Amino acid sequence: MRTLILVEHDNGAVKDATLSAVTAAAKLGAVDLLVVGLACHGVAEAAAAIAGIDKVLLADHPCYEHALPENVAPLVAALMTNHDAFLVPATSMGKNVAPRVAALLDVMQISEILSVEGEKTFTRAIYAGNVIATVETTDPKLVITVRGSAFPMAPTTDGSAVIEEVSIGADTGLSTFVSAEIAKLERPELTSAKIVVSGGRALKDAQTFEQIIMPLADKLGAGVGASRAAVDAGYAPNDYQVGQTGKIVAPELYVAVGISGAIQHLAGMKDSKTIIAINQDVDAPIFQVADIGLVADLFTAVPELTAKL
Ligand code: FAD
Repeated sequence: MRTLILVEHDNGAVKDATLSAVTAAAKLGAVDLLVVGLACHGVAEAAAAIAGIDKVLLADHPCYEHALPENVAPLVAALMTNHDAFLVPATSMGKNVAPRVAALLDVMQISEILSVEGEKTFTRAIYAGNVIATVETTDPKLVITVRGSAFPMAPTTDGSAVIEEVSIGADTGLSTFVSAEIAKLERPELTSAKIVVSGGRALKDAQTFEQIIMPLADKLGAGVGASRAAVDAGYAPNDYQVGQTGKIVAPELYVAVGISGAIQHLAGMKDSKTIIAINQDVDAPIFQVADIGLVADLFTAVPELTAKL
């Protein structure tokens, strides 16, 4: 079985989510990578160094400068004549491209796999992670998105794949790039951070969120997350949201501050290795998944903890 993975990159480095997809794909057989962009030869070289890769296909063309899914999907569909499966991380980029590829190939997409059980059999979470379904496809070609937190990252140094230029490149004219507003993060990115500190509705407002959560995160070198209630109330930006409709994280340490532990939040963080919960309500459901629980008022406990670290 030969798999093609679309590399997610920022024109400099390969994103960590791609490395988890490589680990998943390696369980299916041979793995090729596709690097799409403009002036992105450096990315192809970085991709070629990832362990276990056979070939890096490089599509370097002006029409791929912003990796518009309307242009990338037909390229992937064309390359699928030589591949049995197409994998992408279940990130915004992957979720933008994979369904289009599935439609062009007239197959079903298998979303956010957690494990590879066989060539055509996978597990995935349903009902906000309360049930793990084993699914089997009969489609001739597979289109799969991979939950990054479920697979370890492939090493980035042991490989020596060949780089092959792909000459296909056409602007479908279906969409036009207008602008991109990219949030500049001073802290580790949420989905790849080893430690995450998240705040909930109890933080009251954006200013208090900043005053309580950020110093603790900075002391721990952590990424910052939030519950949906905190995001909806404007305490934290959208891309901080952890949960069923936010980001899925599984860091070494997850600190939940003033978060009740609704199932939709747990769906995004319950696979964290160690969970610390700080909540004043002893019956809060977050304590059922927490390894360490502190029943306390966060407004005194968190500054105290931060000062002691
Ligand atoms: P609350 O549930 O209000 O909890 C606040 C907690 O703070 C309480 O436990 C309280 O005891 C504690 N507290 C209050 N004051 C203090 C204090 N001074 N010190 C210490 N503790 C204190 N939610 C997500 O997070 N992510 C998602 O992706 C998501 N997706 C959803 C999708 C759907 C379809 C739906 C229906 C809901 C979704 N939700 C999601 C919302 C979810 O159901 C909850 O409403 C939300 O997670 C609650 O956020 P919270 O824990 O911050 O707030």
